[in-house]
Amino acid sequence: APGLYIVATPIGNLSDITLRAVDVLRGVDAVACEDTRVTGKLLHHLGLKKKLIRYNDHAGENDRERLLALMESQPVALVSDAGTPLISDPGYRLVRTARERGIAVTSLPGPSAAVVAMTLSGLPNDRFLFAGFLPNKAKARQEMLAELGAVPATLIFYETAPRLDASLQAIGAVLPDREVAVARELTKKFEECRSGTPDDLIAHYAAHPPKGEIVLLVAPPSDEPDADIDVDALLRQELA
Ligand code: SAM
Repeated sequence: APGLYIVATPIGNLSDITLRAVDVLRGVDAVACEDTRVTGKLLHHLGLKKKLIRYNDHAGENDRERLLALMESQPVALVSDAGTPLISDPGYRLVRTARERGIAVTSLPGPSAAVVAMTLSGLPNDRFLFAGFLPNKAKARQEMLAELGAVPATLIFYETAPRLDASLQAIGAVLPDREVAVARELTKKFEECRSGTPDDLIAHYAAHPPKGEIVLLVAPPSDEPDADIDVDALLRQELA
């Protein structure tokens, strides 16, 4: 049926593609993707050949309108280079506009590095806050860590190997007592998840420069400093 099919793809291990993703990719004529080379490879691996339409962060109104027009008359799949589209990847405006126009939109679940890292890290998972990439600038990075550090949830950030040290240093400065986990190369041959204090991890990665793709996680604040807050009293006050 015509419409937009958001299709999650593997984050490293090609066997993580779902049966439904393969079915949908087989059934569509056109696949919107970030990078035609990356998606071409995946489709080739699946024995498929499709019309690839580039849709990335640089896409303008015209690219979007062309895709929207297409999905009025035929099914169109949206994939990103890896993992779940829209999660730190393009697609938000496309989905939003498609929904506004009454175009059928559906999303096929699959891997996302944030969730894989969360489950692997051993950090509390009753609440977690996915915050995408930390800002590049030192001051903005520290401000964001200070703001998010107050949230009672495990924090999840996407990271790159060249920036890992700077991010760990910033966490060490702003949230020095937190347990941190570095989840690297998830689902791939050299998958690793390493936990410690920011200082432990700074030392480790100074000696073993990290390679590949990285998710950084920060434990929630411990309850101790706030232990004598009387939640009931606060609530009564709030409701009065
Ligand atoms: N949409 C993707 C998802 O659902 O996971 C994320 C896209 S984002 C542009 C790329 C970032 O995701 C990387 O910098 C890294 O932080 C994380 N990532 C993707 N694949 C990963 C992997 N196999 N291991 C660790 N982190 C990964």
